[in-house]
Amino acid sequence: MRALQLPAWHSDAVVVDLPIPTAGPGQVVIKIAGAGACHSDLHLMHMMSDGMFPWGPPFTLGHENSGWVHEIGAGVEGLSIGEAVAVHGPWGCGACPQCILGMDPYCSNQAAAAGDGAFGGGLGLDGGMAEYMLVHNARHLVKIPGNLDPIAAAPLTDAGLTPYHAVKMSLPKMIPGGKVLVLGVGGLGHMGVQFIEALSGADIIAVDTKQEALDLAVACGAEYTVNSGDADAAAQIKEITKGRGCDVVLDFVGVDATIALGIASSRIQGDMTIVGAAGGTYAYGLYTAPYELNLRSTYWGSRSELAEVLALAERGDITVTYTKYGIDEGLQVYKDLEAGKLKGRAVICP
Ligand code: NAD
Ligand code: ZN
Ligand code: ZN
Repeated sequence: MRALQLPAWHSDAVVVDLPIPTAGPGQVVIKIAGAGACHSDLHLMHMMSDGMFPWGPPFTLGHENSGWVHEIGAGVEGLSIGEAVAVHGPWGCGACPQCILGMDPYCSNQAAAAGDGAFGGGLGLDGGMAEYMLVHNARHLVKIPGNLDPIAAAPLTDAGLTPYHAVKMSLPKMIPGGKVLVLGVGGLGHMGVQFIEALSGADIIAVDTKQEALDLAVACGAEYTVNSGDADAAAQIKEITKGRGCDVVLDFVGVDATIALGIASSRIQGDMTIVGAAGGTYAYGLYTAPYELNLRSTYWGSRSELAEVLALAERGDITVTYTKYGIDEGLQVYKDLEAGKLKGRAVICP
């Protein structure tokens, strides 16, 4: 089968030929419907190097995956061949307190998980940018409900799940008439806007450098847009909040500039979550941020939250904007993602 692999750190993706994987005990092979191209893959290609993780290339890219059950390993129950499934991407040990809650991204015993510490398929182990994918434990599969498009389910496993987890943490502060700032309206951000819109009565201020992304934000429910290229972007946001500041800020970019803009736009006792993985930092302290600003980072979401996201999509409360590409177009997809030419999510459909 053909697969899009990361051959080494600091390198582009390449198409290779691999044998179709087979399912061992407890495992499942799925035929891939879609594999989303996440901006994190660009960070993998450019920012990471030996020693940063206990795992490394080569591996097949694609950590947001969906498909149909193709082969069921010994001992796996409750699945049937051809059934549509989404893959919960972070693969923890299954036994620590976080994994018992389905919060595998915060596994406290990753070394005991399948793959010698690898985070999951597409993150150290072979992912979904291939015709077939081995899922190392059947518990990582969540059934796709009702008539939900299996291809749309792929981006929901990360571009959907990650913002959903971040939004849920701050829901108590998303009050009617309040303001939520969304920084970056790409794959994750356009889903984040929809979760805020579907779950809360707060107004959304969307910020991006691209007009097309701001238009998408409005289509997803944002009330206000600000171009962060504007020199007075921070003043525009303050003006929209009538000087009070935003109740909640979700930063889906994560560079120094967006973290600084988010903190400058926050209110006293607000929430700010850094989702973007670009590696930006901020000198947080008593004199550099509003009092009692709750500043945190986040990583992915739980298995039960993925089921919630799929259910919200199945009944039409949220919709992924995506474009399909073939495996051979993968290299170009990442170049376009890097150049900011994509709208919503690109999904590789072998
Ligand atoms: P994307 O490329 O689809 O979207 C990024 C958006 O941000 C684009 O619309 C871009 O125009 C905009 N942008 C870039 N610089 C900006 C700036 N200075 N100000 C305002 N907008 C700006 O990326 P994505 O796949 O949505 O991922 C977003 C970030 O989230 C990436 O860093 C990715 O690695 C990270 N991520 C984190 C997690 C997590 O669990 N924490 C999960 C998935 C992705
Ligand atoms: Zn991702
Ligand atoms: Zn664990």
